[in-house]
Amino acid sequence: MQRLALFDIDCTLIDAHGAGGRAIFAAIEETYGVRGELGDYTFHGRTDPAIVRDLAMRWGVDGKRAKAGVEDCLRRYIARLEEEIRDGHIEVLPGVRELVTALAADERVVLGVVTGNVAAGAMAKLRPTGVADLFEVGAYGSDSAWRPDLPAVAVRRAEGRTGRRFVGKEIVVIGDTPADVDCGAALGVKAIAVATGRHAVEELSRHAPDYVFPDLSDWRAIYDAILA
Ligand SMILES: [Mg+2]
Repeated sequence: MQRLALFDIDCTLIDAHGAGGRAIFAAIEETYGVRGELGDYTFHGRTDPAIVRDLAMRWGVDGKRAKAGVEDCLRRYIARLEEEIRDGHIEVLPGVRELVTALAADERVVLGVVTGNVAAGAMAKLRPTGVADLFEVGAYGSDSAWRPDLPAVAVRRAEGRTGRRFVGKEIVVIGDTPADVDCGAALGVKAIAVATGRHAVEELSRHAPDYVFPDLSDWRAIYDAILA
């Protein structure tokens, strides 16, 4: 029995308390000279490149220029994010260090992240957890702006690293949003939802994850669900 456990980052492993949003707002203003309100737009379940493009366009930048500036904007975003993180805005969520450490020590498990963050942003956000080095593979917003592409990218990287092709319920996606629950559907993955973001247990349950937990603090139960 082998498992590829793929964790979302924001509001699953850590809560950056808005650091990412502040960094992205500042980078968009520096890049495109625009700033606006978020309105009903949500970052959750979206990738960084998509967020930059969407917000720039929402705030009046035409589509072509919005797209052309994405790379430049993300470079500025990373610099801003590093400043925010130095100021100590990252909270490591309860149970995360214990769960990740236990999974990493279990040779049946390959550990990875699947996140809308670009790779450099993901690394910056994971650093304060102290367990960043335990993740062996990752798929990031810098691999595809379309989140449902990402689990397959992680599966390919895991195969490249281990020589093993994980399929179906051997692949476990752990995340806090309906987008995390849904993103692995095409691969038939096991989905574990955790209500440490904006979505309550009842709402997540409607997306029919295999398991739903209020948080990761009862980490042995999540460990068992991953290996089940
Ligand atoms: Mg999340």
